[in-house]
Amino acid sequence: MRDENCIFCKIANGEIPSKTIYEDEEFRAILDLGPAAKGHALILPKDHFANLFELPEEKAASVMKLAKKLGAQMKENLKADGFNLVQNNGECAGQTVFHFHLHLIPRYENDGQKIGWKPGAPSQEELEETCKQIVG
Ligand code: 5GP
Ligand code: ZN
Repeated sequence: MRDENCIFCKIANGEIPSKTIYEDEEFRAILDLGPAAKGHALILPKDHFANLFELPEEKAASVMKLAKKLGAQMKENLKADGFNLVQNNGECAGQTVFHFHLHLIPRYENDGQKIGWKPGAPSQEELEETCKQIVG
């Protein structure tokens, strides 16, 4: 299913051109226009799913397999020193395009990027409480 107003639907299905590094029936992988580092790519499903929670389980499994394959190829061919997978869900988590995508980000020594967070310092009790909340 496609969403007519979604730019990633148009890109994934070839209606808008992109620098494509991989394509099959289900997915297209493209270079990000605002890369964190050389080779930064996005895996897009061709059907529209707003985020991870809308993505069917089988596609979620396939996307990770594809990330492993493309990641290895990129690491080798771009001589990357490391690799980040990033996947944002929801505006407060940094998602700006509401069509599921997985970021593949090759990393290089001294590339000057920082993908991370400010670590908290919860007590053991707080961790225990959080565990209980999640497990239900
Ligand atoms: P998000 O913040 O939603 O996880 O990531 C959206 C990503 O899509 C950003 O890294 C942004 O640079 C990229 N992006 C946004 N619009 C386009 C576009 O039209 N073409 C390509 N190739 N990348 C895009
Ligand atoms: Zn879409």
